[in-house]
Amino acid sequence: MTRKLYVKSYGCQMNVYDSHRMADMLAPEGFVETATPDDADLIILNTCHIREKAAEKVYSELGRMRVLKNDAAREGRRVTVAVAGCVAQAEGAEIIRRAPDVDLVVGPQSYHRLPDMLARAEHGKVLDTEFPVEGKFDHLAAPSRAAIRKRGVSAFITVQEGCDKFCTFCVVPYTRGAEVSRPVAKIIAEAERLADAGVREITLIGQNVNAYHGEDADGRASTLGRLMHRLADIPGIARLRYSTSHPCDMDDSLIAAHRDLPALMPQLHLPVQSGSDRILEAMNRRHSRADYLRSIERVRRARPDVAFSSDFIVGFPGETESDFQDTMRLLAEVGFASAYSFKYSPRPGTPAAEMDQLAETEKDDRLQRLQDAIEQQQAAFMARCVGMTLDVLFDKPGRQSGQIVGRSPYLQPVPVIGPTSLIGEIAPVTILEVRTNSLYGTLATARQPAAPALAEIGA
Ligand code: SAM
Ligand code: SF4
Repeated sequence: MTRKLYVKSYGCQMNVYDSHRMADMLAPEGFVETATPDDADLIILNTCHIREKAAEKVYSELGRMRVLKNDAAREGRRVTVAVAGCVAQAEGAEIIRRAPDVDLVVGPQSYHRLPDMLARAEHGKVLDTEFPVEGKFDHLAAPSRAAIRKRGVSAFITVQEGCDKFCTFCVVPYTRGAEVSRPVAKIIAEAERLADAGVREITLIGQNVNAYHGEDADGRASTLGRLMHRLADIPGIARLRYSTSHPCDMDDSLIAAHRDLPALMPQLHLPVQSGSDRILEAMNRRHSRADYLRSIERVRRARPDVAFSSDFIVGFPGETESDFQDTMRLLAEVGFASAYSFKYSPRPGTPAAEMDQLAETEKDDRLQRLQDAIEQQQAAFMARCVGMTLDVLFDKPGRQSGQIVGRSPYLQPVPVIGPTSLIGEIAPVTILEVRTNSLYGTLATARQPAAPALAEIGA
């Protein structure tokens, strides 16, 4: 019997990957994915708990699901509603108390048990937020070839999960648990299966991906850099990326991979959070401003055209205007291609939530000033790309007729007029103009002169 499954992902790329794996796990049970919740038999909300706003979004969405569920019941149709992800892990039974229409609450470590949980949900509420002893990755079903193709030429692989760093603002170590790395052989097998179905680009993901230390064939711990070398050898895989990294874990093997592997794209997301040593210490980031700048410098020496992006938090407890100015100076010193910035959001159970909080108006003001500066840097970076010829991996048709869209090595969207036969291929594009955060250009017939050094942008 075919049943319809609707999965909605909130938050990070890890959740996107997990949503795919949940769909793969449920496919043998007869579940086929649908793009809307309206006709679904099973609705899974894969949630994010990182900031208060993200968590609250879930409850308003559950209100909408309640209406859908009641409408379906009137038509004699049963709809099962499941809450997965980090809100499920953090709030557990509280979710069912606040939203009694929820049938099932499943934490990120228990997705491999979904079919069994669904069967039990026919007879009552089910809650599973354990950290089971058996590894979920060993029990999760592999995607079918058709499912891989449908998801496109660029794919994620989770290589490590959890975090042992305990930054004082962050819920991840509590919701995702201790850091666990998958063995090298399992990752290679997954990458080979993806490549075999037409995937050209793999992004290795993890909450702290460069802390990766999975077991290699010789029984010793690998590094992310060594893993990259193995993946770069897989036929068909043309591009590699990784996210999200911690500045303390930029080891020599990873820096060397940036120098030695053309497949490793010149783009790195390296969150710094703050440019003030005082605040970095209060955040328990374990690195100073100088350590961060040194990491950037080491990567640039290995691969001068790396485009950096980062995460910033403003309004952390105790942050003064002078601390904030240190952050603004760091931004100017590095010169980022893009960056995410957030107002500090106190999270229950984390040490920083107990500290004296800043006024919301102060946080708003700093966020606005930081975002203005980030926008200027991003615009400068994009403008710098005009006139360059960049290799673009095309991954989908564009909105206009005859248009296809791909990504530059620096991850910007690049729409061009071109044949759909180029989807899945890498072709050079001469960039003509910047519009709404995309680089518009034309397919190039011959390679243009070498690109100017992008590292100069922020200087
Ligand atoms: N592991 C990564 C790291 O070490 O930077 C990032 C993990 S987190 C999923 C993504 C980003 O959310 C963080 O880099 C941080 O900027 C932001 N974030 C985490 N907790 C936050 C909080 N309580 N308030 C505001 N932003 C937060
Ligand atoms: Fe959270 Fe990243 Fe810090 Fe880990 S390293 S606690 S995931 S911000």
